[in-house]
Amino acid sequence: MMERLFTCISCQRDVVDYPNRNGRDRAIEPLCKYCEGSYGERLPQSGAFMDRRIAGQISALANVLHTRAMSIEWSGRYGKA
Ligand SMILES: [Zn+2]
Repeated sequence: MMERLFTCISCQRDVVDYPNRNGRDRAIEPLCKYCEGSYGERLPQSGAFMDRRIAGQISALANVLHTRAMSIEWSGRYGKA
């Protein structure tokens, strides 16, 4: 049974998935799989252990924060787009 797991902090979409999914297809809080893939750098290769996945998600989180900070700075300078 699929259920709402968490809300992605980047795109604010609800992540709906099987709660007991295992392995590389599992969504890890607080980023959805899409944001993790599009903001992350040096994503883990297939067969990598979970710590590489976590490291990739941390780099994605850093990029999300950086993007958000740039957006706040821009709107403070030039107003809301
Ligand atoms: Zn997301």
